[in-house]
Formats: sequence, structure tokens, C-alpha cells
Amino acid sequence: MITGKNYIGEEQSAKGSKTFHTFNPKLNIPTEWTFYEADIKEIEAAVEKASKAFDPYSNLPYVQRAKFLNAIADEIAVLGEQLITVFMQESGLPEGRALGERGRTMGQLRAFAALLLEGSWVAATIDTAQPSREPMPKVDLRKMMVPIGPIAVFGASNFPLAFSTAGGDMASALAAGCPVVVKSHPMHAGTGELVSSAIIKAAQRTGMPDGVFSNLNSSDVAVGQLLTMHPKIKGVGFTGSFNGGMALYRLANQRKEPIPVFAEMGSINPVVALPGALKEKGAYWAAQYAGSITLGAGQFCTNPGLILGIKGASFSNFINTLSAEIEKIEPACMLHPNIYDGYQRGKQELSAQPRTEKITDLKGEIPPNHAVQRILAVDAKVFLENPILHREVFGPFSIVVSCSDKEELVHVINHLEGQLTGTILGDEDELKRSPKVANALMKRVGRIIFNGVPTGVEVCPSMMHGGPFPASTDSRFTSVGTSAIKRWVRPVSFQSWPEELLPQALQNKNVLGIMRQVNGENTDRNI
Ligand code: NAP
Repeated sequence: MITGKNYIGEEQSAKGSKTFHTFNPKLNIPTEWTFYEADIKEIEAAVEKASKAFDPYSNLPYVQRAKFLNAIADEIAVLGEQLITVFMQESGLPEGRALGERGRTMGQLRAFAALLLEGSWVAATIDTAQPSREPMPKVDLRKMMVPIGPIAVFGASNFPLAFSTAGGDMASALAAGCPVVVKSHPMHAGTGELVSSAIIKAAQRTGMPDGVFSNLNSSDVAVGQLLTMHPKIKGVGFTGSFNGGMALYRLANQRKEPIPVFAEMGSINPVVALPGALKEKGAYWAAQYAGSITLGAGQFCTNPGLILGIKGASFSNFINTLSAEIEKIEPACMLHPNIYDGYQRGKQELSAQPRTEKITDLKGEIPPNHAVQRILAVDAKVFLENPILHREVFGPFSIVVSCSDKEELVHVINHLEGQLTGTILGDEDELKRSPKVANALMKRVGRIIFNGVPTGVEVCPSMMHGGPFPASTDSRFTSVGTSAIKRWVRPVSFQSWPEELLPQALQNKNVLGIMRQVNGENTDRNI
């Protein structure tokens, strides 16, 4: 049952006077549930509990934390049909997507549980003492990663499960040993409350300290800002708009003690279509890209918003086929009216720029909150001169840019902002003959793709989901995949520390059986 209350640790609470509703974009009406926005006392109480939980939680054996993460996945499964129904009502997304996202969310939690047991994430590094070294004796030094403290996580609007209450930010922070206070996304508060109930049940079942997790409702920016400014919050995870991410980043840096904000923001995910690829498989790629641009109503941070090619018959044919293919696709419902309005504004603003051509223009009766896809064509020189054309339009929108030659193509890539992904379509010989294109693109992105589409982000250790600014605030870290844990830990060296007082990961006897670097050698042996 949805109560509309906040979770302050294990306690459900509705002390604030401000209420709000989520929205069913398909029916174009508010949902039936009333949510209570967290007031300042509830925010304070949640952070205080998280701070108190930090020591007992971070000192638990990794196997206990792993049990907790697996139990969250189990409890999410127990929510069953109700979670799927509320997800669909609050997002307008179809059942298949709800099921897929739930599976991904549970899979992420289990992957972090497995990582905890595998143990190499602590990067245990041991350099034993050499008392007789000349001219100076060498001290015993042992280093490992430790958690940074309570983390504020902002639920994303475009992934109500996998990037929200029990999503990648939260799972990675809990795995690292950091309690989490979630600021639920206002448009998915019901989904968030159900998932929170599962997390609390899992915490109780596995004996976690009260305060290891809290969930706060809010319908405007104040709750998130207060959380970010709270001295006992030590890091922030965010996925959303550039403006939202940067507002939090600036706030965090104005604190007496600045803290890291890992914000994953906008990206237009450039795609370079080399001539050979289009000559051989132009129709194939056009169909693939029509699907990728419109997937999930274009509401993916990896949506291909920019396609670059070299003028000629192959590129013209590709553009025509892409336009024909995309016009066959039914407009889909967007997540909520704000995202829909943002899409309409962005689409209109970019389409109104001089010397741009609308390649698609679907007409007819369109249901409310449904996004009509748009492809815009422009010459490279126009694109280079007009920064408005470089902006992300969040939805099923893409710009096709025609370059005179490879040199101009490289010039355009060099003028792009940082991106999550970049894609090259071509054959392998063409790729070999285009080192400048590949090199320019690699410098701009976090993930570079050959002959594929950027949508679809695998959750695995080798995934990089982040990129040079403004794609994210710190290009060294990923928000997807098990490496995401690295955002919430910091290295500590223990010098000449009594052996029995060292954390288990650094003791001579390798009781955890993890891989460690001992005197330069990677090994799981005892010392
Ligand atoms: P958003 O406006 O950035 O909001 C995301 C979360 O951040 C919300 O919980 C919001 O709180 C909070 N927030 C926003 N601005 C803030 C501020 N100045 N201070 C403190 N908290 C703030 O994103 P959205 O509502 O999910 O979608 C809006 C637009 O974001 C989309 O149209 C799209 O352009 C972009 N977006 C991009 C991605 C991506 O991956 N690139 C993903 C999702 C959305 P409240 O809503 O409670 O105020």
C-alpha cells in the first residue's frame, strides 16, 4: 500500500504540511496518492540517523553487507505486480520496460553483493617493512579503500527503478559501506515508496543499523539542496538535467567542507557514419537508428542526438531512409508533462534556428504527452557557428550534420562538448584509415562504440557511463557497473600499524581470500 509518507530510517513519517501527487502521463491526470514532502526536521532526522549508522554499518563484515544487498533484490521481487503497475502509472512506460528495469535493478544489487565477496575493490596494497634497508629503513605501509560517509542520492526521472531509489547510485554507495538518504524523484514517489519499503524490510531482516537508508519525498528543489548542504552528508549521486546537476555541484563546493557531486547530466552522443558503412549498409543503419532515436520516447541519456556524415549520395540516401523509417514509428508517451514540455521547447527552439531543415514532420492527432519525433538536417558550417544546435533535446530528436570531407568531420568533433558516448559506423579498413576521427572522438567521450547504437548500457565491470564535462562532473568515474563503487571510497594508508588492529583486508593472514598487491606482486597468498 502507498502511504505517501517518508522513510526516516525504519520509521514512516509525514510531519510536513506540503503535499503533492505524482502524474499518470498516459491518462493525463494526477495519480490518486498524496505524498507528504519531507520538512526540515525530517531531513535533519534522516541525516542524523545516517550519520549514526555510518560506523556500525561500515564496520560490518562484507559478507553481511552482501546479504543485505541480496535481500533488497529479493524484497523487490516480493513487491510483484504492484510495483510494475505503479511504475507504469507514474511513468507511462510499457510493461516490458518495467519488467526489464526491475530485473536490471535486482541484477545490479546482486552484482555489488558479488563484488563485496570478491573483495579486490578495496585495492588492498601492502608494502612490508625493510628495517635493514640502506641508507634508510623502510616502514610497513598498507593501503586500502574506505567509505566516505552518508551519501545523498537523487532519484532520476528517466529510470524510475534502475537509476532511482534502489538504483546504481544507491547500490554502489551501500556496497561501499555508506548509508544513503534518497531524495525521491517527485514524479515517481509511489514507485520510490514501494522500493523503500523493500529496502527497509531487507535491512531489518539482515540486522542492519537503523538509518542505513532513508527516503525523502519532495516536490521542489529545497529538500535536495538542504540535503546537499548538510554537513553530515559526504557525497552526492545525481542523474538528470545539466541545470539540476550544476546547481548541486555549485552548492556542494560552497560548503565549509566541499564534497564530491557525481552528476551525470546531458549528452548528445555523436555518431559518425563513415561513407563505406553507408554505401554497404545504409538502409540497415537507418532502420537501427530510427529505433534507437525513438527508444523509450528518446528519454535515454545515451540517445543518439547527433549524426555526422560526409556529403554524397550514400549520406543523402541514409538521411532519406532514416526519415522514412522514423516516420513509421508511433509517437510514444513521455514520462511526465515537465519532460514533455521541455522536449517541445527544445525541439521548437532548435528547429527555428536559421539554415536548418526539418527532415521529418509528422502531423495528425497526437495524444497528450506523446512526443513526435524530429530529425533536423544542417550543414557542418552552420552547426559549427551556432552553439544552440549543440544542445541536448531530451526526447526522440536528432540532428544530421553534413560535412564536406573528413577534415571538416574531425573539426566538428573537436568542437563538441564532452559526451557519454561516441559511435563510429564503418568497416574495419575504413576505421584504420580514419585514425584522426577515432582519436578526436575518443577524447570527447566516456564510451566509444564501433558499429552499434549507443542506447543500451550494459551493467558490468568494464562499463564506463560518464564522460568529460558536461556529460558528467567527474570523467574519471562511472555511474553504471560495479566500478561505480569507486565514487564512494577513499584510500587510507596505515603506517607501522599493529597487525591485529589492521582491517582484515590488510592483515598478514588473508582471511578474506581476496587479491592483494603485496610488495609489488598481485596475490591472494598469506604474508
Ligand atoms: P531534473 O530537473 O534535473 O531533476 C532531477 C532531480 O534533481 C529532481 O529530483 C529535482 O528535484 C532535483 N533538482 C533539479 N534541479 C535542482 C536544483 N536546482 N537544486 C536541487 N535539486 C534540483 O531532471 P528531471 O526532472 O528528471 O528531468 C528534466 C530534464 O532533465 C529533462 O527534460 C532532461 O532534459 C534532463 N534529464 C537528463 C537526463 C540525462 O541522463 N542526461 C536524465 C533525466 C533528465 P525536484 O524535481 O524535487 O525539484
